[in-house]
Amino acid sequence: MNELENLKQSILREYPRLSADDHISFRCGADLACFNHCCADVNIFLTPYDVLRLRRAQGLGSASFLSRHTLIPFDKNQNLPLPLLKMNDSPTKECPFVDSERGCIVYADRPWPCRMYPMGVASPNEKIEAGQKFYFLMKEDFCLGLQEKRDLSVTEWVNDQGVLPYEEFGELFKQVTLNEAFAQGLKQSPQQVDMYWSALYDLDKFRKFIFNTSFVDRFELDAVEMDTLRDDDEALLRFGFRWLDMALFKKLSLKVKTEVLNRLSAKSTSTAANA
Ligand code: SF4
Ligand code: SF4
Repeated sequence: MNELENLKQSILREYPRLSADDHISFRCGADLACFNHCCADVNIFLTPYDVLRLRRAQGLGSASFLSRHTLIPFDKNQNLPLPLLKMNDSPTKECPFVDSERGCIVYADRPWPCRMYPMGVASPNEKIEAGQKFYFLMKEDFCLGLQEKRDLSVTEWVNDQGVLPYEEFGELFKQVTLNEAFAQGLKQSPQQVDMYWSALYDLDKFRKFIFNTSFVDRFELDAVEMDTLRDDDEALLRFGFRWLDMALFKKLSLKVKTEVLNRLSAKSTSTAANA
């Protein structure tokens, strides 16, 4: 069992489960001796929306952000790659976005796990089904905020962290990464893995794929929506999820133009006739 799976099992077994109405006592601030301690040597997996927000905050193109700030561990048990935020090379391995005095310099665009910390969300079922999900507190000794007397409900904490858009995109992401088709043995070709990567993570490349290839000639696409995709990253990411439904899972999430279907059908008839 790997480190992540061990942690998950111990959360399911040992951590007290909190519901949205439960209360916690917690306060975080620059006046605490542990300020920034949680921003070093930590594994932060990045969802597509985390990357979108961070790279925009940094004014970087998607490929530059991914090569500068992520590691992409990938082993044969994974269906699809998931990037990790790369910590600095120093012995203490700080996050590249932490400043000793100001704290997180990308605070408004920090990733979902940073927003939620020291709270986490888990479920006995891998898919984190709404009815089964629970919140828990990570009890790390260095986090002095857990000793502070500030009462708030789990709902208040979650709402304060601005996670709503992260949850919308998180749901779409789970529909891809935890798709039933994988449980039924679906394997992705290297080309499909590339499609997943560009449609969800390397959005600049995906935009070029849509507008600089024959893509728009092959599908029935709404002109207004297409125009939006030119400069609206969120809209482009939503479209990326739609595209992957077709490209990875063969769902009819986009409509192929009739003339393209006719061409394909004529080609396959002629191939069959020549066989
Ligand atoms: S992104 Fe911000 S909050 Fe998250 S680890 Fe880095 S500095 Fe800390
Ligand atoms: S360790 Fe806890 S209290 Fe300290 S800065 Fe991090 S989250 Fe805040």
